[in-house]
Amino acid sequence: MRYEGMIYRPPSEADSLLVQATIGCSWNRCTFCSMYRDKKYRVRPLDEVMADLREAASSVGGFRRIFLCDGDALALPMPFLTAVLEEIGRLFPRLDAVRIYASARNVLNKRQDELRSLAALGVDMAYIGLESGSDRVLSAVNKGITAREMVDSAVMLRDAGIKQSISVIAGLGGEELWEEHILETANVLNAMQPEYLGMLVLHTGDDAGPAPLFDDGSFRLPTFRQVLAETRLLIEKLELKDCLFTSAHVSNYFYLRGRLSREKQKLLREIDAAPLDDPLRA
Ligand code: SF4
Repeated sequence: MRYEGMIYRPPSEADSLLVQATIGCSWNRCTFCSMYRDKKYRVRPLDEVMADLREAASSVGGFRRIFLCDGDALALPMPFLTAVLEEIGRLFPRLDAVRIYASARNVLNKRQDELRSLAALGVDMAYIGLESGSDRVLSAVNKGITAREMVDSAVMLRDAGIKQSISVIAGLGGEELWEEHILETANVLNAMQPEYLGMLVLHTGDDAGPAPLFDDGSFRLPTFRQVLAETRLLIEKLELKDCLFTSAHVSNYFYLRGRLSREKQKLLREIDAAPLDDPLRA
């Protein structure tokens, strides 16, 4: 298997075979994200991807899923994706599923019948960064999509039979917009009804320094108390039929896991019992 640059995958794909079908992210302009800043987006040559798959089929075992990297492999044109998925089906007949990072933009750029055909070829879940349901925040961080479009992409995925694992980012609205950020994020998630929801925490975490999230320079990274308050408000406002909520990402200060809405009260009690000391300042 050949990989170019740093490879990212969701925590839940730790046991999956990672197959790099694109290099980088086709958008690559979100101000808070440095994952693919050093990569210029391109589609990997199809014969290289096929060669990796054949090599994995003959030498790697023990995985039940394949995860297609990099940032938003759903940007791939349908003939490419179809060829890769058909080869995966031939080489790994006992595979449970193929999963993929996707931007809502690239969901909307596919037709409904194309998404259904991806599901028929084994794609059972797309990981999508919603980040915020507030259009002001989405615009400030240059996400390149609106809250309405996020909901539209969720409807398309649901109709195609592809599950959604959605991530949102605590702290992305700064001190000024934190309440709007959370309340509108809850509204959008209630409309999207994802099967999985992960709450991450905003960090800068790279040499580029704090991202210029807001033009006027007023932006501050969230304090631990702000993250607690945002997490609590979000959970309180969510009305999800059956969704596994986690804050288990490397960016999180504390671990939460529970089914919404069934375990909403348990999650709220765990937040209320959290020590208020900032672990970053201990
Ligand atoms: S779309 Fe996702 S991977 Fe691409 S820049 Fe934005 S957050 Fe990063």
